[in-house]
Amino acid sequence: MSFASIPKNPHALRVTPHLLDYEQARAGHSWEALRADLQGLPGGGLNLAHEAVDRHAGGARANHLALRWLGKDGSVRDLTYADMARASARFANVLRSLGVAKGERVFALMGRVPELYFAALGTLKNVSVFCPLFSQFGPEPVWQRLSRGDAKVLVTTQALYEKKVAALRERLPALQFILLADAAEDLDASVLSLPKLMAAASDVFVIPPTSPEEMALLHFTSGTTGMPKGAVHVHQAALTHFATGRYVLDLHPEDIFWCTADPGWVTGTSYGIFAPFLHGVTNLVDEADFDAERWYRILQEQKVTVWYTAPTAIRRLMRIPGEPRAQHDLGALRLIHSVGEPLNPEAVVWGQRALGLPIHDNWWQTETGGIMIANYAAMDIRPGSMGKPLPGIDAAIVKRGEQGIQVITEADHEGELALRPGWPSMFRAYLHDDARYAKCFVDGWYLSGDLAKRDADGYFWFVGRADDIIKTSGHMVGPFEVESALMEHPSVAEAGVIGKPDPLIGELVKAFVVLKPGHAATDELRLELTGFARKRLGPAVAPKEIAFIESLPKTRSGKIMRRLLKARELGLPEGDLSTLEND
Ligand code: ATP
Ligand code: MG
Repeated sequence: MSFASIPKNPHALRVTPHLLDYEQARAGHSWEALRADLQGLPGGGLNLAHEAVDRHAGGARANHLALRWLGKDGSVRDLTYADMARASARFANVLRSLGVAKGERVFALMGRVPELYFAALGTLKNVSVFCPLFSQFGPEPVWQRLSRGDAKVLVTTQALYEKKVAALRERLPALQFILLADAAEDLDASVLSLPKLMAAASDVFVIPPTSPEEMALLHFTSGTTGMPKGAVHVHQAALTHFATGRYVLDLHPEDIFWCTADPGWVTGTSYGIFAPFLHGVTNLVDEADFDAERWYRILQEQKVTVWYTAPTAIRRLMRIPGEPRAQHDLGALRLIHSVGEPLNPEAVVWGQRALGLPIHDNWWQTETGGIMIANYAAMDIRPGSMGKPLPGIDAAIVKRGEQGIQVITEADHEGELALRPGWPSMFRAYLHDDARYAKCFVDGWYLSGDLAKRDADGYFWFVGRADDIIKTSGHMVGPFEVESALMEHPSVAEAGVIGKPDPLIGELVKAFVVLKPGHAATDELRLELTGFARKRLGPAVAPKEIAFIESLPKTRSGKIMRRLLKARELGLPEGDLSTLEND
């Protein structure tokens, strides 16, 4: 099935988009020219935190609202660019006073509180490496990452320290300092009160010379397909954050931007911290977790103009009966973006109907550091498509063969999604795993591990992760296609599809379906769904088995863990579960 193309979103055109003509923008793009829009350090080099805050603090936007923090308890904290520059300078001075050097790792394990943002920027000012961890990780995943990432400093809270870290101390000999963001007093010689240290530190910090190739961030992947990998990013990534803030998020000076991702995932740093700050706009941070009513209220009351969220959240909103616009004024919204998983066409269309705006899907990975393929404000949307490559990015559909990499030029052919290496936010290493890193690059291409196709007009369509592809009766089936078809049925909230070994047809397509409230899991409905899917997909691709399930196993970043559905179905070992959402 295919959905009609959605013409340019008129709300997105309320301000003139930066990218008005895709082909022209591609032809005119140069990373060097873009670099001229950043400032660089006075002594040479490029530092992400300088560009994100100090540059504005030293100029006309010093008093512009940089961070509006919404506390769980209803409190609000506003910080200007000047405030952010001072607070991050204090944090950098704290690190310096503790002897933390260039390249050494500073981890954060905390919720979305202002100190997390001071720590991120302050660490970069000190040219140390920032590694944010999702605060809901249990002790074992925390230990795994701290030890694999060579943590020297950990910034956390008293409660998280006691619950998750205290018992690990002996197993973390390299961890020298733990800074507690909410402790009035030091606990011992190495577990220190951050407020005390911050109060004693100067709010002026001169950033040392920073090579653009200096390591800045360490991000662990989501663990959807296996053990999370540590992707290394450098200060030069600022160029991609800035470019995508311009071309994709389409940030303008008066925007109120809200990225719902936690900085524990790469979206929450590249877009929850850097892109909005690089553009000097107001970045909204909500401390609370997903809550539909709260989210709609935030969109309305804070007059969010550009919103970046994820398919899993959108699908949760879609389940709620009623018309959001009947209860909430979402009129300030200009653009809604989504990343992290394929965005079902049904969701794009729902956005248009229920929120008044289509949802702009974009594709990237922890490894790419920033958005690589996107639906732009001034471009028609083809629901279900990830859009077109960012200006400055060469993407292709390729096949790995005996002769090496072969680029597929015909339209609508499936293959692996590959990128030409060399974009600024490309990961520079998998930490402590050079062999795995080297394997990602073949014949001058970075191979993403995702399968996709490109249509005749240059739009890219996600097919599936290479690991999730189902081989059934000689067909290659991407689970996303089947899941999206099922989602078109009014009873279906969400679906996860796997291949189950079958002696006759190789693998049979099996779907796990979560129903919307008010629908009963009956055999009748199962039959109806089978027929419904057959009509849309044909008998070869439609699921042969459908099971109803209360909820799908997901990563904490909201991705369906099909490998776990499969392992459970087949009674196989479940593998690394450090990122499994289990509450
Ligand atoms: P791991 O590599 O540890 O298995 P992961 O790949 O889920 O985990 P991330 O880097 O957070 O970790 O996610 C990137 C992946 O998410 C992409 O490779 C792709 O499979 C999927 N993804 C992201 N955005 C989209 C999108 N717009 N459409 C389809 N898939 C997407
Ligand atoms: Mg991955």
